[in-house]
Amino acid sequence: MNMRMYLALTFVLLWMTSCEKETASDENYIDSDLTPYFENFVEEAAKRGVDLELMRDMVSGYIEDIDDGSVSGQCRHDADAPDKVIIDRTFWRTAGTSRKEFLVFHELGHCMLGRSHIDTRDSNGFCVSIMHSSSDVCTNGYSYSTRAEYLDELFSN
Ligand SMILES: [Zn+2]
Repeated sequence: MNMRMYLALTFVLLWMTSCEKETASDENYIDSDLTPYFENFVEEAAKRGVDLELMRDMVSGYIEDIDDGSVSGQCRHDADAPDKVIIDRTFWRTAGTSRKEFLVFHELGHCMLGRSHIDTRDSNGFCVSIMHSSSDVCTNGYSYSTRAEYLDELFSN
C-alpha cells in the first residue's frame, strides 16, 4: 500500500468514526408516555417560528420515582450526556392531560429552551408564565382555554 492510499484510508476511517459519534443521539431515550408531549412541544414551537428539530435529540425523558415529595419534575443538566427531563411516577399516574402537559412543557422550557424561572403575577394573581418556580408564588392558570396564551409567552422569551 502506498502512502497516499494509506492516508486516504485513514481519513475514511476517521470520517466514519466521527459519523458514528454524531448518530449516538439516536439512542436518546424518551419514555413512550412522554413522547407525544415532546412531539407537541416541538410542534407548538414550530408554529411560533422556533425550530427545535436539533434540540429534539438533545433531551431525554424519564418517568421515575422522585424522592423529594415536593418535586414533580426536573430538568437535569449533564455535560457528558443528553439533558434529562424526569417526571415523578406518582404525579404521572394521578394527573390529568393538561397538568401533565403543563409539567412536561415547564421542564422542556428549562431543558430545550434554556429558560429559568419567572414568578411574575398578573393583577388577579395568576402566573404570567408556565416557568413559575412553584404554585406558592402565583396561581397556575394553565388550562385548555389559556394554553395558547401561555405557549406564546413560553416560546417568545
Ligand atoms: Zn422549573
